[in-house]
Amino acid sequence: MAKTKTMQAMVLEAPGQPLKWRRMPTPQPGPEQVLIRVHACGVCRTDLHVVDGELPHPKLPLILGHEIVGTVAATGSAVRQFKAGERLGVPWLGSTCGACRYCRNGRENLCDNPGFTGYTLDGGYAEYAVADQGYSFRLPPAYSDAEAAPLLCAGLIGYRSYRLAQDAGERLGIYGFGAAAHITVQIAVYQGKKVYAFTRPGDTETQEFARRLGAVWAGSSDELPPEELDAAIIFAPVGSLIPAALKASAKGGVVVSGGIHMSDIPSFSYDLLWGERVVRSVANLTRADGEEFLELAPRVPVKTEVQTFPLEAANEALNRLRQGQIQGAAVLVVSG
Ligand SMILES: [Zn+2]
Ligand SMILES: [Zn+2]
Repeated sequence: MAKTKTMQAMVLEAPGQPLKWRRMPTPQPGPEQVLIRVHACGVCRTDLHVVDGELPHPKLPLILGHEIVGTVAATGSAVRQFKAGERLGVPWLGSTCGACRYCRNGRENLCDNPGFTGYTLDGGYAEYAVADQGYSFRLPPAYSDAEAAPLLCAGLIGYRSYRLAQDAGERLGIYGFGAAAHITVQIAVYQGKKVYAFTRPGDTETQEFARRLGAVWAGSSDELPPEELDAAIIFAPVGSLIPAALKASAKGGVVVSGGIHMSDIPSFSYDLLWGERVVRSVANLTRADGEEFLELAPRVPVKTEVQTFPLEAANEALNRLRQGQIQGAAVLVVSG
């Protein structure tokens, strides 16, 4: 069994600080875990919220990263689902309790006692990671390691958000056109939706990107679309987009917030909600979402656009994501 005793990792030692390049012990897999040689790990907006201290009680020190693609380097004694050398992906949901009422009725995404990869469990900004066999996925072979990484959160959370919006009608607005949106638009267009893409004001480059991926209209988030929306998904962590999306929505419209954190939502007139409009959030994912999405993605086929960075450039990748300078998804590629 090839196994190194130490590894390189980018480590968050305290919120508000840049990640540090550290050599640390390679984790050992527990009985139900696999040790993964990390090949690629996506950089998600949630990682920025953790770095900025906007999500409470992270594990510290912490290895971020919950879009891990790698191969099995070693297996725990009870692992039967994966063999050494197999490729697999690890998402945000790292464990659940299996006993709470959410777990027992098919809503494990709302588990009372979950573990989250790259937040309460160490993640993939490292040469190695461990993950529970039951919470890891086989990945469609058509995708390279870097291309597959964004499927594991941007894709999955985008898909869960889309499913909650899809029955409302044909016209779908997407606010914030980053990693999740660039995947979601492809699924929506594949299923016959008309997509209206909203970006930061003046970001004509991203608006062009959205049109290239099939949006029928792209404009600024402070504009109204040419037609009323049946549903809207908000991926940008900006609370004022909730009333903006309601204003753009038809009667019965559904507004889904896909992010884990958002700035405060300004108060708004009841008129915006009247007419059976709905506002709701999406939290985490279930393993069933993962199986369903990873089966669908290669059939569309969803193409991911990635900008790659070496592992040690994780801070640069995070900064560029913060500044809206990533088209598609940022991915760390781990070599050596
Ligand atoms: Zn539970
Ligand atoms: Zn994420």
